[in-house]
Amino acid sequence: MVTAAALVLGAAGPAVAREARLPPPLDLFSKKPPKLRGTIHSRAIPLPQPRPAEAPKAETDKAESDQAEPEAAEKSAGPGKKAEPPPPSACRLALTEEIAIAPSVPDIKGPGGCGGEDLVRLEAVVLADKRKVAVKPAAILRCKMATAIADWIRSDIVPIAAGLGSQLSDLDNFDSYECRGRNRIAGALLSEHGRANALDVRAFRLANGKSIYLTDRTVARELRESVLHSACARFSTVLGPGSDWYHEDHIHLDAAERRSNYRICQWNVWDPLPQVAPLLPAGRPEEAPPREVAAKSEVPAKPQAEKSEQDEPEAEEKPAPAKPKPTKKRR
Ligand SMILES: [Zn+2]
Repeated sequence: MVTAAALVLGAAGPAVAREARLPPPLDLFSKKPPKLRGTIHSRAIPLPQPRPAEAPKAETDKAESDQAEPEAAEKSAGPGKKAEPPPPSACRLALTEEIAIAPSVPDIKGPGGCGGEDLVRLEAVVLADKRKVAVKPAAILRCKMATAIADWIRSDIVPIAAGLGSQLSDLDNFDSYECRGRNRIAGALLSEHGRANALDVRAFRLANGKSIYLTDRTVARELRESVLHSACARFSTVLGPGSDWYHEDHIHLDAAERRSNYRICQWNVWDPLPQVAPLLPAGRPEEAPPREVAAKSEVPAKPQAEKSEQDEPEAEEKPAPAKPKPTKKRR
């Protein structure tokens, strides 16, 4: 038998015999895509049986789904399904109606990086005695910034205002969310207002109708300094008079996050202007009678130098007496 089989193989040739037993060599260096092995791919892969309804919930599945809740909720939502809103943030949960009237508003996705998430409309700050300090108009802010404002009013501004003979009633909101560059300059870096992370405060109003403008030089210096120190302790940016030309009539507060917690506190509490200020002379009205000095300058007793100085403005005024000289703007 053995010899017979050997003879048959020998007759067919050694090459044929090798091909019959071995698979074709792998063509590793060919650029052609590899051929798929039909037998494997056509075979149906048995899927696991669906879990019967009466089966107890698998422990492992539960633990996993609990851990990866937000991501899983988004991923499982197919194109047809609407993604479930994310769970409320820790800030949102902490900013209760005991602290502020601040309903959540939808996220804003504006142009050029404008907008923000976890936004609220800060309508009023609720004080410990349940009284409310209205934010007028209501401010659109990130939850964290709204919380910082509420804490500032409750802990700092109410005690500061306590000595004013009336209760705090409103915060005069000059600007909150606004998609714009810094200082409203087109092309400038995005303002924190564009991130809903800033509030411009102009004044506080009291229940007796009086307003306390924070940049008013006639408001007690001590009061303005107290507000300044409290603001700079809480907000990463405080800009007021003296910081730049844009903050002469309001105080800018924001919660910008910078490297190494760098903070900016620029607000010069100016002294009131003197009662008799060395003002520039007002423009001469058209109906004014001729100047006395013109007649005096004719007096020969006057020194020559002084005379010529007084003559010059008179000469200038003659061609256009109706036009008052522009006075320097004071801010
Ligand atoms: Zn501002």
